[in-house]
Amino acid sequence: MEPTENFFRSIIEASPFPVYMCMGPDKLIAIANDATLKAWGKDKSIIGKPFDEALPDLQGQPFSSLISEVYRTGETYHGNNAPAEFIINGKRQINYYKFTYQAVRNSRGKIVGVICFSTDVTEIEHARQAMEESRHTLYNMVRQAPVGICIINSDNLVIEVVNDSYLELVGRKRAEMENRGVWEAIPETAELYAPVMDNVIETGQPITAKEHKLLLVRNGIPEMVFIDFVYEPVKGFDGEISAIMVIAIDVTEKVFARRKIEEAEERARLAVEAAEIGTFDLDLVTDEILTSERFNIIFGVGRDAPRDLFLKALHPDDVELRNNAHKTALTTGKLFYEARIIWPNGSIRWIRTQGKVYYGSVNKPLRILGTLLDITEFKHLQQQKDDFISVASHELKTPMTSIKASMQLLDRLIKVDPSSDKIPQFISRGNSSLNKMQQLVDSLLNVSKITAGQLALHKTRFLAAQMINECCDHVRLAGTHELELTGYTDLELYADRQRIDQVVVNFVNNAVKYAPDSNRIVINISKQDNMAKISVQDFGRGIPPENIPHLFERYYRVDTSGIQYSGLGLGLYISAEIIELHGGEMGVESEVDKGSTFWFTIPLN
Ligand code: ADP
Repeated sequence: MEPTENFFRSIIEASPFPVYMCMGPDKLIAIANDATLKAWGKDKSIIGKPFDEALPDLQGQPFSSLISEVYRTGETYHGNNAPAEFIINGKRQINYYKFTYQAVRNSRGKIVGVICFSTDVTEIEHARQAMEESRHTLYNMVRQAPVGICIINSDNLVIEVVNDSYLELVGRKRAEMENRGVWEAIPETAELYAPVMDNVIETGQPITAKEHKLLLVRNGIPEMVFIDFVYEPVKGFDGEISAIMVIAIDVTEKVFARRKIEEAEERARLAVEAAEIGTFDLDLVTDEILTSERFNIIFGVGRDAPRDLFLKALHPDDVELRNNAHKTALTTGKLFYEARIIWPNGSIRWIRTQGKVYYGSVNKPLRILGTLLDITEFKHLQQQKDDFISVASHELKTPMTSIKASMQLLDRLIKVDPSSDKIPQFISRGNSSLNKMQQLVDSLLNVSKITAGQLALHKTRFLAAQMINECCDHVRLAGTHELELTGYTDLELYADRQRIDQVVVNFVNNAVKYAPDSNRIVINISKQDNMAKISVQDFGRGIPPENIPHLFERYYRVDTSGIQYSGLGLGLYISAEIIELHGGEMGVESEVDKGSTFWFTIPLN
């Protein structure tokens, strides 16, 4: 049995897709199923009416003329995602359709009408448009972003979008990047990053990296840079990865700046270490103190000592001074004081504390950061200098008073008895005081020359014994001590005669001065290998062993406890410098109450 027309009609009616048929050149609507009427927003009354009359909404849209064209040519027309605009319930509405217009022929093959099959693709189209729009927004965001962003197609690794910041970062022009393969555009990064990108595409897991060191060829010039970056997979609306978004920030300056700070810190730390400065951080709220290792060493205590221990170590006489300094610091913002501390072993040390107060809100002092220095040596030196100044003034005053007295006496004598035989006696007394003063001043000048490194040597050849005999004449003349010259009396020296003379005189004068009760002084000349050795031995009070290491220091004078010896404490210091300049050595052997032997060696040539 042939299927009837009714049979076909019922199939068309049942179709959930819009199907309709127009007949003849006027396109009379012969069939329009429910899906069609629903799409058009019409009812069955339009059936039998010409297409243009039934659907005035579609005027100006291509459908009517497309149907006429198919009716005329018989060629099927395919429409894809075509928008169709209707007024439905008074509202303008656009739907999208995928459709075909196909000619309908009679049994003789003549075209009698056009049938349309269509699918509503509005939802898909809307989704596509939304995707398109969000992509567009994304691209706009990318373009304006202050960080470098580049979007790479994950199928072919072609750069789809790249912003100016990224171009600047990699030192490329837009034309060198856009629509080109990423590894072709920046080949120097391929080796390192191609596997990373492949991995992101494969796993869908983003990757971030911080301060990645990278050699970039920027505008033709290779540069070492540091970059923070992210490879972020971008998914399409089908959920598949469609692109990789690379976000990159050049952090080279930040890295360098941080390194500079680190280096500066390291330098400061080294300086603090080299200068043996202790540091502390005192929390004024909790009263806790953090101290460096050096701080504890200066206090003579172990690590992690509690604050109490530091406070207890303060010399009782300096506690108030320290408390006042801390009180003042809270208002001035600066802490400074010098105080004595007592080490666990009982010895007294000097410290200098300096600090800066840090304030919180409402000017509340929160903490003090500061440094600590051991200034014991410095204080000793200062003390020695102070002592020295008083000693020096005293030493100069004695001959000066004597000169003044001689002058006054002379003045009176000349007026009373100009031919008095006492006149030469006073003149000679004055002269000898002047000589003493000159010697003192010479010593002082020698010291400043030594400190300035200006003590120059004028070497000549001379006989040691001859030099010793001449320079010790004054001792023989004084008659208090007997000089014995022993040993290698023919030895010839090559040295600065005047300076060596000075050293021997200093030894001999000390022997006289510090051995007043014995009358023997032995001077011995000997030869050891290529060195000459001259020693001066006395049989006086000797020197306690603990004082010996300091003898050759500037301004050093053994505490004579009660017994007054004149002297500046400079003679041995100057002597030691002279011997050192000659390339020799100086030393002493001494025993208390037995006597001392001061000696020096100098090279023979
Ligand atoms: P001064 O004699 O001017 O004080 P010196 O530098 O010559 O300075 O000597 C330093 C110290 O060494 C002296 O103060 C003294 O205490 C000690 N000294 C030097 N020579 C002797 C000696 N022969 N016997 C004992 N003590 C000495």
